[in-house]
Amino acid sequence: MMLNSLKSKKGTNNLYLAISIMVGIILAIFLIGIAFFGLAIYFYRQHGRINRQIAQENSRIASLDSEINTLNYTFTQKIDQVSHDVQGELSAAYITRPVPADQLDQTPRLQTVATVAPAGGISGLTPSPTNAPPAAGVSRDSEIQCAFCERFFQSSLPKCPYCGALRVG
Ligand SMILES: [Zn+2]
Repeated sequence: MMLNSLKSKKGTNNLYLAISIMVGIILAIFLIGIAFFGLAIYFYRQHGRINRQIAQENSRIASLDSEINTLNYTFTQKIDQVSHDVQGELSAAYITRPVPADQLDQTPRLQTVATVAPAGGISGLTPSPTNAPPAAGVSRDSEIQCAFCERFFQSSLPKCPYCGALRVG
């Protein structure tokens, strides 16, 4: 009698245990499902947010592009204008440079410079100019042009300060 009641109690216990385990498993699965659902919602929102951000960035890039184009355009215009101004200044300076008296005829300027090139002058034909520029093609007083990088530097220097090439002539 005692043993029987104990046995039935044990069977009931086992039944409760099994039910508890199953309910626990079901609840756990349910919780995991909820968690995954939450994750899915989170990722979906992230997705939308990232998409919006990408769209924003794209429009920002587009506006930056157009801004760069505008800047480029104005920059090019400025450069053109400045180079035009510089050319005007340079040619003005060139024209006002004193010309030796024996060259004050109607000979065009460029030809005049070309015939001046030999340092000693062509003997017997032209009087040798006293302050003839060196043969390297000089545009400024006391400066010579580098034969390699073609920049101008002081004629007192032994070599080009920009590229280091030894001066020629
Ligand atoms: Zn040089």
